[in-house]
Amino acid sequence: MQTKLRVGIIGATGYVGQRFVLMLADHPWFEITALAASPRSAGKSFGQAVAGRWKMPEQVPAEVREMPVWATDAMDDWLGLVDFVFCAVDMDKEAVKQLEEKIARLEVPVISNNSAHRWTPDVPMIVPEINPEHTELIHQQRRRLGTENGFISVKPNCSIQSYVPVLAPLMEFGPEKIVVATYQAISGAGKTFADWPEMEHNLIPYIGGEEEKSENEPMKIWGEVTDSGLVLAEKPLISAQCYRVSVQDGHTAALFVDFSNKPTRSQILERWQSYRPMPQRLGLPSAPDPFLIYQEDDNRPQPVLDGMAGRGMAVTIGRLQEDRVFDWKMSCLSHNTIRGAAGGAVLTAELLVHQGFIKARPVAG
Ligand code: NAP
Repeated sequence: MQTKLRVGIIGATGYVGQRFVLMLADHPWFEITALAASPRSAGKSFGQAVAGRWKMPEQVPAEVREMPVWATDAMDDWLGLVDFVFCAVDMDKEAVKQLEEKIARLEVPVISNNSAHRWTPDVPMIVPEINPEHTELIHQQRRRLGTENGFISVKPNCSIQSYVPVLAPLMEFGPEKIVVATYQAISGAGKTFADWPEMEHNLIPYIGGEEEKSENEPMKIWGEVTDSGLVLAEKPLISAQCYRVSVQDGHTAALFVDFSNKPTRSQILERWQSYRPMPQRLGLPSAPDPFLIYQEDDNRPQPVLDGMAGRGMAVTIGRLQEDRVFDWKMSCLSHNTIRGAAGGAVLTAELLVHQGFIKARPVAG
C-alpha cells in the first residue's frame, strides 16, 4: 500500500482502545489520525488523558502522546481526519447503536468491538479466518443506509474466539452438540488486578449476558449470506457456562463436542495443522500463520505461556481426548483483548481493505 489509510479510534482511552493504539502505532497500512473518547478525556492530550490509567505493559507510543483527544460526538471537529474508525466504547447499547449508525451514514466505515449491532441483520459479524464472505452483507446494508462508502462491521464476543476457530476446520464432520465452559480473564471487563483486587485468588461463576452471546453468536458466524439476507445456522446446539477467573489476559474454553460423523484423532490434528484460510493465504499483516497451534504437553495451553502465541492472534489448543459422554474434548485459548478485541478488528479492517470495502476518502480542505 503506497499511502497509509487514516484511522480514528473511538474509546481510545479504554482497555481495548489502548490495545488499538499499540497495534496501530507501527501498522504497515494504517496510521492513527484521530483519537476520541468521552467528554471526561476530550480536550486533553492522549498522554494526559491516560495518565494513571494506562493499562498496557508497553509505554504509550511516542507518536500519539501529544495527539489531542476529541469528544466523540463533536464529529465536525475530527471525522474529516479519518478514512475509517475502530469503535470500542463503554456506553448504553442504544447510544452505541445510534453513534455507529450516524458515523456510517456520514460515509465513514465503522469496525466495531461493541455488541450493539451484532444482531442487526445486514451488519456482518466477522472472524476473518472463518466467514470473510459475509462482508457481502455490506452491499445490502449500504442500500438500507443510503451510503456509498459508510457501513458497520462488527466482531463477535471475545468468549467465542477460543472455541469457534477450533471447530471451523472440523465443520465437514458435522458438529452436532457442544458443551463449553469458558474461563475468562479480568481484562475482558476492562480491568487489571489494581482496579479489581477482589478478583485475586477468586472466581465468579457469572458474567452478565456472556452465556447467551457464547451460545448464539456462532450461529451468525456459521450462517449463510443469501440475496434476501443472512440465514442463521441451526447447528451445532451449544450450551455454555462462563466464569470470570483470576487471570489478567487470555480466555480459556473447555470444549466437549459430538459430531454426526466422528473424526479420528489424526483427522482432527491434520485439519488443524493444515488450516490456512484466506487471511493467511493473502498474508494480511495481522494474520498469524499458523492460526491454530496444537500443544502436545498435557499442561497446555496456559494464558501466561500461550496467550501471546502469534503476537496474541493465534488460538492454542491442547488436551485433545476421547470422552465418555461426548465424542471429543479439548482445551482452547485465545488472547481476549488482541484476537478477541483490537487485533481481531484490525485484521477485519485489513480484509475489508483487500476486498475494496474500505478506501481512502478525500482529505478535508
Ligand atoms: P473501558 O476500558 O471501560 O473503556 C471505555 C471507553 O469508552 C473509554 O475510552 C471511555 O472514555 C469511552 N467512553 C465512555 N463513555 C463514553 C461516551 N459517552 N462517549 C464516548 N466515549 C465514551 O472498556 P473496554 O474494556 O475497552 O471495552 C470497550 C468495548 O469493547 C465494550 O463494548 C466491550 O464490551 C468491548 N469489548 C471488550 C473486550 C475486552 O476484552 N476488554 C473484548 C471484546 C469487546 P473515557 O476514558 O473518556 O471515559
